[in-house]
Amino acid sequence: MTEINNSSANLVFAADLGGTHLRGALVDRCGVIHAQRKEQTPKDSSPQSVVQALIDVAHECQHSVGVEVLHAACVLVPGTLDTANEIVTQAPNLPSLIRFNFKSALEDKFRIPVLLENDANAAAVGEMWLGAARGARNVICITLGTGVGAGIILDGKLWRGTFGTAGELGHTTFDAFNGPQCKCGNRGCLEMYASATAIVRMARELLSSHTDTTLSDQCLTAEKVYEAGIRGDSLALEIFRTVGAYLGVGIANLINILGPEVIVIGGGVANGWTLFEGAMREQVLKQASRPLTPMAEIKPALCGDNAGLLGAAHLAWTSGKFQI
Ligand SMILES: [Zn+2]
Repeated sequence: MTEINNSSANLVFAADLGGTHLRGALVDRCGVIHAQRKEQTPKDSSPQSVVQALIDVAHECQHSVGVEVLHAACVLVPGTLDTANEIVTQAPNLPSLIRFNFKSALEDKFRIPVLLENDANAAAVGEMWLGAARGARNVICITLGTGVGAGIILDGKLWRGTFGTAGELGHTTFDAFNGPQCKCGNRGCLEMYASATAIVRMARELLSSHTDTTLSDQCLTAEKVYEAGIRGDSLALEIFRTVGAYLGVGIANLINILGPEVIVIGGGVANGWTLFEGAMREQVLKQASRPLTPMAEIKPALCGDNAGLLGAAHLAWTSGKFQI
């Protein structure tokens, strides 16, 4: 940790480092975003170029609001960190960062304290701070995107797991023997039924048996399946019902194990909420309800794309000792 700590500075730098894009923002103590930038994540394989890109985005944000000094920074990575949250141990979309001492490389350049956090964990913090889970202390925030991730907050604190690997909801198993092959090497993971990738796969597999569908194999995306579903396309509606049913089983499992107060669902696929909500709730009620016991609330996320950035900002303000 660098010794320079400008505690009087009134903005932190929050960055969400994705495999494709890098987003950065300057955020104050109340969660107001004062400047925001989005750039391409450097495509060469050098971790130093990722560090430099983050510095450049921070400087651009600072320049736009005329701020020279920042309080701290928090950078989100799409992967797993070591137990000290300093070294990236797994990052399928940014393999150059693996085993690289990312935290100290960033602190050397930024000259302020820098935290690293998993992106799904930070989204949960963001939704708890300023979003759909405000006021709750036991929260699970599920992100449905290309994959499926989850951030878990228990008794007001992030639960990262003993080895930093908790929240891998996307790779919980639904059909280990006959399910579709997942990129993790196993079969039948939740991610194979409830992600954008899964929506496209299911559409491709079922196209030939639905002659009345408006969908075609050309440039098929989850968004196109969603749009077809809104128009009443029977194949698209069936796919989203399948997404909802599997997601509902996954949520019921989480409720049965962890007993959360609130489950928040965000990410791009959550835009299809109206198409999967019914099938999801049906499974949750069937598999997780208990007589005379209140049921966890299940809600769509409120912070949108900024949940991670806001969570990162909150972690930076609380120096990683996150507790509401
Ligand atoms: Zn998997």
